[in-house]
Amino acid sequence: MAGQIHTHPAENCNWRRHKNACPFYRERWFPCNDVVGEPMYQVFCLKGTPPVTLEEQDKCFRSKSRCWRLAESTRRKAEKVGHTSEHSK
Ligand code: SF4
Repeated sequence: MAGQIHTHPAENCNWRRHKNACPFYRERWFPCNDVVGEPMYQVFCLKGTPPVTLEEQDKCFRSKSRCWRLAESTRRKAEKVGHTSEHSK
């Protein structure tokens, strides 16, 4: 039931933003779904890097203005460049 996405979540009003989550986070709920094993809701990441654990989803909820994953990647790259330039002195 929940596995098919026919309209991109960015263009479908059934996929909603979360008030505290990043601008790219979308979720849709199935409040009447009482089928065992079927999800109560689905998450979609417009950046294509969805949270895969509850801890990652929690980070999405605390990243109201930007993606925590992209911020961490940028920070790691900056640290790597800084580390490399220290060795080239
Ligand atoms: S992984 Fe990043 S872009 Fe995707 S929903 Fe979470 S915070 Fe947003």
